[in-house]
Amino acid sequence: LDCHLAPIYDAKGQINGVVSVLHDITKLKHLENMRTEFIANVSHELRTPITAVKGFAETLLDGALKNEETSRAFLQIIYNESERLHRLISDLLDLSKIELNQNLLNYSTVDMRELIHSTIETFKPQAVKKQLNIVEELDDIHAEVDGDRIRQVIINLLTNAMAYTPANGSIKVTLKAFKPEQIKITVEDTGIGIPKKSLSRIFERFYRVDKARSRESGGTGLGLAIVKHIVESHEGYIQVESEVQKGTKFAIILPKYKKEKIDGNGI
Ligand code: ADP
Repeated sequence: LDCHLAPIYDAKGQINGVVSVLHDITKLKHLENMRTEFIANVSHELRTPITAVKGFAETLLDGALKNEETSRAFLQIIYNESERLHRLISDLLDLSKIELNQNLLNYSTVDMRELIHSTIETFKPQAVKKQLNIVEELDDIHAEVDGDRIRQVIINLLTNAMAYTPANGSIKVTLKAFKPEQIKITVEDTGIGIPKKSLSRIFERFYRVDKARSRESGGTGLGLAIVKHIVESHEGYIQVESEVQKGTKFAIILPKYKKEKIDGNGI
């Protein structure tokens, strides 16, 4: 906050100072509102599966246990909802870890082609099952990144591409050198696409274009928020292009070498 206040005293005259202070209060208020909204969202997201678990367990205890078929169906729901809670909590933990340790990335020189290829391999069985074709165009590039975190980025983008692309579609992943000293990774699908008005919001925590569809595919609404955080903590950026019913293309641009921050926060 001190930092924000400093320019006030640089300005000529005291009235400017008052204006800046008010500006900062607005910013604080905005942060406060965002925090309140976030907690409300988390509570809501947690309550939905817990309500289901509680309700179905109660019904079983009240006598439904006697019927084996019903019991099985209810237990399956309880299991699915617990899985969902588990995913939600681990995504939330990931997000807060990344936020807390923005500057504590575990950098090393990573064979990016190998990292992306091996990640894609883990999706192959699922792709075959869903009749999706995955195409790779990966150049031989090494980069200084936090390999585990960048793998998480690829996993989240591929998970979405698989979830939002109907059977017989295809997913293409590319890795190329980009401008001097940068690399570009793209994940492109032939799926349902994202409406224009939603494009700027998909990186917000818990924002989904279609809540029911995201739930159905096991989504938590946190995947892209995590992606954005990881990419930005590497001093990179993310772009998205999409056309409804045609498909979506995400592009990640990362510096090839670790960037030293010069504002003093990076140490
Ligand atoms: P979710 O867990 O719901 O997938 P994300 O943060 O990963 O959450 O994505 C946010 C929303 O962006 C999704 O709910 C979905 O509406 C949209 N989205 C993300 N990736 C794609 C994609 N490849 N194709 C279509 N829509 C997508």
